[in-house]
Amino acid sequence: MTVGTTENPLRIAIVGAGPTGFYAAAHLLKQKKLTVQVDMYEALPAPFGLVRYGVAPDHQKIKSITKLYDRAAKNKNFHFFGNVRIGKDISVAELKEYYHQLMFTTGAPTDKPLRIPGEELEGSLPATEFVAWYNGHPDYADYKIDLSAKNVAIVGIGNVAMDVARILTRTTEELMDTDIAEHALQALKESKVENVYVLGRRGPAQAAFTTPEIKELGEMQDADCYVRPDEAELDPLSAADIKGDRKLERKVEIIQSYAGAETTGKAKKITVRFLVSPTELIGDENGHVKTMKIVKNELYINDKGVMRPRATDIVEEIPVDIVFRSIGYRGARIEGVPFYDAWGVNLNEEGRLLDEETKEPVVGLYTGGWIKRGPSGVIGTNKPDAVETVTHMLTDLADGKILQPANPTVDAAIAFVAERKSDYFTYADWQKLDALELANGKAAGRPRVKFTNVEEMKTAVGK
Ligand code: NAP
Repeated sequence: MTVGTTENPLRIAIVGAGPTGFYAAAHLLKQKKLTVQVDMYEALPAPFGLVRYGVAPDHQKIKSITKLYDRAAKNKNFHFFGNVRIGKDISVAELKEYYHQLMFTTGAPTDKPLRIPGEELEGSLPATEFVAWYNGHPDYADYKIDLSAKNVAIVGIGNVAMDVARILTRTTEELMDTDIAEHALQALKESKVENVYVLGRRGPAQAAFTTPEIKELGEMQDADCYVRPDEAELDPLSAADIKGDRKLERKVEIIQSYAGAETTGKAKKITVRFLVSPTELIGDENGHVKTMKIVKNELYINDKGVMRPRATDIVEEIPVDIVFRSIGYRGARIEGVPFYDAWGVNLNEEGRLLDEETKEPVVGLYTGGWIKRGPSGVIGTNKPDAVETVTHMLTDLADGKILQPANPTVDAAIAFVAERKSDYFTYADWQKLDALELANGKAAGRPRVKFTNVEEMKTAVGK
């Protein structure tokens, strides 16, 4: 029987309810000549992945993208199974019984290590955990961070580092306008953090942060942004490299506008450093980080034509009470899904998963988003990424290269999930939670107050 008709719909499971999952679902559900049913599985009760748990709470505008995802979820051929972790509650092999195709859009939940001595000291933390904590990720509801610290260093100068620097230095008044987790709001109110160093290993011309983000650091209510004049200066190689690139020149101009700036008397200071790399973290007698050794770098062009940093013999020590490494996220393996460990992504070619041994496409298995290409780009980057994978899925369907599920119906899938994980969340359950969060926000004079605990979420929707 042909698959993709009203009588025999194409049944697809999307694992991971982040932006890519929703872009893929929307693209699949709008196919005119095919009847497609999408069942979306999500480990957490709430959908939206990185938009809810990654995007900084003071970037509410970006979060409004979820309205588009809601639209896809309204389709009668869309079903949501929240609070169901594939690889734990249900295996990939079990999913194959119910679907013609599986697409994994599970993002990049862990972080990359720095690999320097002292990294294991107390107070040396991945930025990913701090981000998850302030965004109310349920896995981090009990996370403890001591903000009696005065000096914080963030290693890496991507947009995540910018987010962390802002959240650490925002006033309570600024944070009230956000949906930051209540526990983080209270902890940040009491915070003693005064100095935040953001450390880039290359120069201003190679900075990974984007222009609006560096500009924002200069517009904080009670924090000044500072750059050392000698580090704001471009070396001749970089100056030649960006000449005529207006976007990059503009970014460098903003960085240089902070160079040598007098402090305006604001309570906190963010210092963005360039051409420095941490080489060691030194602890106090309690095993808590106290000092960071850094080395000055110079740039050279490698054999691929890329400007890379290399250490000079100029070293320095800075006092630090907390060190966040913010040098990139990393994907995690799910049992039954081909993975490429060196890059921390699913092993794939344009979204088609490849067998780890033969490197041939595995029938019926696909991937998208950060777990497909690595942690890069903005939320919108995941749309063309999802479309690329879906296009291959539809080609493979036309070529008959799909799974042969024993029970390809929505009812069978619902019955199976209900039996395996009776406390799963439907989209209607999420919408109830959403309405409660918004109402709680209104009562507190904030855009939203998030539930951060799975048990509380269950109670709130009557499970
Ligand atoms: P990222 O943009 O890739 O930045 C990683 C930073 O870590 C870079 O500065 C990189 O330096 C540095 N780094 C890597 N390895 C290092 C090492 N061993 N020692 C010192 N520094 C090291 O990653 P991200 O900040 O995690 O962000 C992930 C993605 O999400 C990015 O595409 C980002 O733009 C996006 N994002 C966007 C927003 C927004 O739009 N507002 C907010 C958050 C995140 P090099 O450049 O020298 O490699």
